[in-house]
Amino acid sequence: MKGRHERKCKGCRKPFEARNRAQIYCLRERCKRERHLRYMQRYMPRWKARHPDYWKTEKQREYLRKWRAAHPEYFREWREREKKRRARVRKNVRRVPVHV
Ligand SMILES: [Zn+2]
Repeated sequence: MKGRHERKCKGCRKPFEARNRAQIYCLRERCKRERHLRYMQRYMPRWKARHPDYWKTEKQREYLRKWRAAHPEYFREWREREKKRRARVRKNVRRVPVHV
């Protein structure tokens, strides 16, 4: 039969028909779980290394939320200052000739 691969499951060691060459576990529940576990163990560290900002921003968001709750006045003042600063920046930008 074309496209079929008879092989031994890496989990339970029983022969099964793989649908493709990448399939090394059979479709039994416990083997599916093992496959998923292996996959996570193999790729999660790499994924974390490739997306360091994801974890950083999560932590930062949490930190900022706590900090804001502890310093509500400061944040209000900061927002006012930021509003004025942005208005100033907008005015400056308008003065600069734009080349399109
Ligand atoms: Zn199996």
